[in-house]
Amino acid sequence: MSRSLTRSRQLQLRAERFLPGGVDSPVRAFRAVGGDPPFVTHAEGAYLFDADGNKYLDFFGSWGPMILGHAFPSVVEAIQKAASQGASFGASTAAEADLAELVTRCFPSVEKLRFVSSGTEACMSAVRLARGFTGRNFVIKFEGCYHGHSDAMLVKAGSGVATLGIPGSAGVPAETAMHTLALPYNDLDAVRAAFAARPEEIACVIVEPVVGNAGTIAPAAEYLQGLRQITAQYGALLILDEVMTGFRLSLGGAQQVYGVTPDLTTLGKIIGGGLPCGAFGGRADVMEFLAPLGPVYQAGTLSGNPLAMAAGIATVSHLIRHEEEIYNGLESTTGRIAEGVAGVAREAGISLTMNRVGSMFTWFFTDKPVTDFASAATSDTVAFGRFHRAMLDAGVWLPPSQFEAAFVSTAHGEAEIGMVLEAARKSFS
Ligand SMILES: *Cc1c(COP(=O)(O)O)cnc(C)c1O
Repeated sequence: MSRSLTRSRQLQLRAERFLPGGVDSPVRAFRAVGGDPPFVTHAEGAYLFDADGNKYLDFFGSWGPMILGHAFPSVVEAIQKAASQGASFGASTAAEADLAELVTRCFPSVEKLRFVSSGTEACMSAVRLARGFTGRNFVIKFEGCYHGHSDAMLVKAGSGVATLGIPGSAGVPAETAMHTLALPYNDLDAVRAAFAARPEEIACVIVEPVVGNAGTIAPAAEYLQGLRQITAQYGALLILDEVMTGFRLSLGGAQQVYGVTPDLTTLGKIIGGGLPCGAFGGRADVMEFLAPLGPVYQAGTLSGNPLAMAAGIATVSHLIRHEEEIYNGLESTTGRIAEGVAGVAREAGISLTMNRVGSMFTWFFTDKPVTDFASAATSDTVAFGRFHRAMLDAGVWLPPSQFEAAFVSTAHGEAEIGMVLEAARKSFS
């Protein structure tokens, strides 16, 4: 009972006339898994609806933002109200400090912050600020981590870069990438060696505290503490890229879960409640290096956009009000889904490594433990593609790549747990 995607295929062909690959972000084209990408018409709660009248249980949540599910009533209302008062002014509004205050309450390490319009901008700007503050040029990142698509961050990046099997990107001059040192994740010795070789040249270490963009990979015990200790020892800044993990693993992100205090934090995804928004923030003395107070330039026509602020305030304040219930609920629902499907795979004789942290998880098609990008890359991506197509056919939409985390929202409940287990049984048989 294959689902028809006739209308979606027509829409894809039309989109391909005007948009490269028919998409505005590469992984949406389903190249890694094959088959046609459904065209979405609308969404509600845990479900997406396509142009062919199909309904899907959503496990990618717009790639992270939709922690409350789609079209959450108080978020919709906040956006509608803000829209009726004007979409953008390019002048300050009270809402910017309102959301900033909520963020600083959730993230004690963030004393001051600046809003931008994407996670890419947040990471790019945080790295520039770290370089400006320290007067150093080199940046350490980790293989398989994704910090947006700015030139210097595309070296050995995860997400779509890993999915397409390209080491970086054409169009990035070697001179631009030469100050980016890409090291294996979960390997403190590699970090120690890099600092020993350039003790006064490294501005910062930027890391996904829990990797989501190579599939889900947890930090080894004391790994983040080790990064904190080494960066402090050499006078470099530690940037935790919490664009995915912020407000997702807990209200205060991975830094709260693992008890590590970074100098700078980048945020995105959930902070905008589904609208384009990101932020970077941290130590006040570092943030005051930004223009207009300091010499590091950073700006944005739509930064702090009133609609994005309204959606962010509605989302974050809901998370604050219902913190315990929400994060406990996500933990138990996601555990039952992630482990449940792994159990179904085992019964079917399929070897699969399940990694999960909170409401982020990945089923890797490998029998090896996945602790870094090299071990993630042992996955059978052809088998993943088959599984993805079978699940989609059974009405469950997983992220269309082995190297992306899946997400659970507060709208996923008992019925949805039953549904995904049933779909997995069908798919594995
Ligand atoms: C998604 C993501 C980014 C990039 O954010 P965009 O809004 O897509 O530019 C950066 N870092 C991490 C960890 C992400 O997950």
